[in-house]
Amino acid sequence: MKKCDYFKDLILTDYMDGQLDNSSSKDVENHLLECCECRAFFKNAKVATALPFERLTPQPPPSELWSNIKQRIENEGQESSPLEEIVSKLKGLFVFPRVVPVFASLILMMAAGAVTVNTIQIQQAKEQAQGEYLVALLAPTSSTTSDSGDLGTPIEHYFL
Ligand SMILES: [Zn+2]
Repeated sequence: MKKCDYFKDLILTDYMDGQLDNSSSKDVENHLLECCECRAFFKNAKVATALPFERLTPQPPPSELWSNIKQRIENEGQESSPLEEIVSKLKGLFVFPRVVPVFASLILMMAAGAVTVNTIQIQQAKEQAQGEYLVALLAPTSSTTSDSGDLGTPIEHYFL
C-alpha cells in the first residue's frame, strides 16, 4: 500500500499537472491499469479538480470594464503627447463653444447699436453744419461785415 500512496501523491501533484517525465508517467499509468483503487482515486481526483472549472459558465465582462479599458487606452495615447493633454485640460476648464456665440452676438448687437448711434450723430452734425452754412449765407452779419461794418466798404471809408 505504500506503493499506492506514492502513486496517489504523484497523481495529485505532478501527474495531474502533466509535469512528470515520460518514464514516471508511464509508471503511474501502468499502476493505474493494475490497481483499481488508484484508478478510482485518479478518477475522483480528476473530477474534483476539473469540475469546479467545468461548472463555470462564461460570464460576459461588464460593459463598464470595456469602456474603462478603452478610456485608459485613449488616455495613454493622450499622455504620450503632453500638448494634447494640456489642450484637453484647457478645454475642460473653459467652455468656449457655448460662451463664444453668446459673446459674439452681444458684440454684434453692441456694434450695430454703436453704428446706428454714430450714423444718427453724423446726420445730426451734417444737418447742423448745413444749417449754420445756410444761416451764414442768409445773414452775412457775423464775420463778413465785422471789419467793414462801421463805415461801409474800404473805398467808401477812403473817400469819406
Ligand atoms: Zn494503487
